[in-house]
Amino acid sequence: MNITENDIEKIIQQVLVNITSKPNENVKKDVTPEVKTEAVPLKKKYLGVFEKAEDAIEAASRAQKKLLKEFKIEDRERFINNIRKVTIANAEILAKMILEETGMGKYEDKVLKHKLVAEETPGTDILKTEAWSGDNGLTIVEMAPYGVIGAVTPSTNPTETAICNSIGMIAAGNSVVFNAHPGAKECVAYAVDMMNKAIVEAGGPENLITMVAEPTMESLNIIMKHPEIRLLCGTGGPGLVKTLLSSGKKAIGAGAGNPPVIVDDTADIKKAGKDIIEGCCFDNNLPCIAEKEVFVFENVADDLIYHMLQNKAYMLTKNQVDELVKIVLHENIEEKAVGCSLDRKRHYVINKKWVGKDAALYLKALGIEGKDDIQCLICEVDLDHPFVMTELMMPILPIVRVKDIDEAIAYAKKAEHGNRHSAHMHSKNVDNLTRFAREIETTIFVKNAKSFTGVGFGGEGFTTFTIAGPTGEGITSARTFTRQRRCVLAEGFSII
Ligand code: NAD
Repeated sequence: MNITENDIEKIIQQVLVNITSKPNENVKKDVTPEVKTEAVPLKKKYLGVFEKAEDAIEAASRAQKKLLKEFKIEDRERFINNIRKVTIANAEILAKMILEETGMGKYEDKVLKHKLVAEETPGTDILKTEAWSGDNGLTIVEMAPYGVIGAVTPSTNPTETAICNSIGMIAAGNSVVFNAHPGAKECVAYAVDMMNKAIVEAGGPENLITMVAEPTMESLNIIMKHPEIRLLCGTGGPGLVKTLLSSGKKAIGAGAGNPPVIVDDTADIKKAGKDIIEGCCFDNNLPCIAEKEVFVFENVADDLIYHMLQNKAYMLTKNQVDELVKIVLHENIEEKAVGCSLDRKRHYVINKKWVGKDAALYLKALGIEGKDDIQCLICEVDLDHPFVMTELMMPILPIVRVKDIDEAIAYAKKAEHGNRHSAHMHSKNVDNLTRFAREIETTIFVKNAKSFTGVGFGGEGFTTFTIAGPTGEGITSARTFTRQRRCVLAEGFSII
C-alpha cells in the first residue's frame, strides 16, 4: 500500500488525541505503524544526486581529481567548516525530514545529533605525518587519499552518518558516492545537496559528495565493482558488512551491536538508573551504542528498578511482555535434519515497523492509555529472552538479575553475540570494571555514564557515526580514510 510520508506522524497524533480524550479506556487497538515499502522518486532535483550510479561515480571522480590538483589542505578545511555551519543551520530541518521519512526516533535528539556531528567530527587536524631522520637522511609517511570512496548509510542515523563520513572523507582528500538506505534516501539527498552547495559557496568543486537517487542492491553492486572506487565504507547491519567484505576491495565495516550494561553492587544506583534510562531512550534507542539490556546484581536490582521508574520508565508485567514480543518481533522456526530427527530452532527478527517508536505507542498497542510521559518500557526477564538476544532498537529495556560478576560478564558476552561493538558498566569496583572491559572486547566501553558519552556527547574525544568493529578501524575519522605513503630522501635533509 502506498502511504504518504506524514502518515506515521498522523498515527502518533491520533494516539495522543485518544490518550487525552479517553483516559480510562483500556481497549487494545491495532496501532501498528505503517512504513513505506515501494520506491518513490525523489521530490526534487538535488546537487550531487544522480539517476545512474556510473554518473555519480564519474562526477565524484572528476571532483576528487580537481580537489587534489587545484586546492590545498587549508581549502579542504574551509569547505568542511562551511559544511559544519550549514549542518547546524539545518539541524531542525534535517531532524524533521528524517522523522517524516523514516518514522523513527525523536525530533529533539536528532537535532542534537546533527549539532554533535557538525561540531565534533574531526577535520584535517587529525591527519599527522610521521617522520624518521638520522644518518641516512629523512623519511616521511603521509596520510594520502584513496580517491573515490563508496559509502553505505543506515536508516537509523541517515544524514548524521552521511555528514560525518563526508567531513572525514573530504578532510582526507577523497570524494564520496553514497548508496543511502532506500528508506532514508530523501533526507540523505537533501544533506548531499546541502553539503555540495556549502563546498561550492566556499569556493570548492561541485560533486565532491554524490549519491544515487534510487539506491538499490544493484546500484551498490555497480559502486562495489567500479574501478574508480578504491575504498568501501558501510554502516549498517551484518548483511551489509558481509556484502562489502566479499567485494574484493578494501572495506571498512561498521556493523550491528547489542550493547549490554552491567550494574554491580558498588555502583551509584540512583545515577545508574537515570543514566541507563536516558542512554537507552536517546532517539528512541536507535543508536547502535545505546543500552539494549541490563544485567544487575540481585542485591541492588530492586533499587535500580525503583530509580528507573523515577526516570520515566514503565514496568511491564509478564503478560504484557509476552504480548509485546508478538507485536514487535517475528518468530521464525528453522528446521534442520539431525540424524533421523528434526532439530527445530526458534529465532526472532524485529518487526521493522516498530523500530524507534515512542514508548507511548507500544503501550497503546497493549491497551494502556494515558502514559504519554513514559520514555522507556522496562521488564524483568531471563537471559534467553528474545528482548535480550535481539537488537531491538526500541525503547524497551530488558533487565536480568545476576548473582555475581562472573555471571554478569558471562551473560553480557552472550547477549553481545561477539559483535565487539559497545558495552557499558556502572561500578566503583576497579577490578570488576577492568575485567568486564577486557572480556567483552568491545570497540567502545563506557564506565558510569550514559552510552552516548562514548561518541563524544558529554564525554571526551571526537565523534563518529561509523564505529567499525568488524574490520577494526574503531572510531572512524579522516585518518581512517587515508592510505599511508612513504617518501624517502637518503643522505640529506637531516639537519643535525
Ligand atoms: P541495514 O543493515 O538494514 O541497512 C544499512 C544499509 O545497508 C542500507 O543502506 C541498506 O540498504 C544496506 N543493506 C542492508 N542489507 C544489505 C545487504 N545484505 N547487502 C548490502 N547492503 C545491504 O541497517 P539499518 O536498519 O538501516 O540500521 C541499523 C543497523 O545498523 C543496526 O544493526 C545497527 O546496530 C547498525 N548500525 C551500526 C553502526 C556502527 O557504527 N557500527 C551505526 C549505525 C547503525
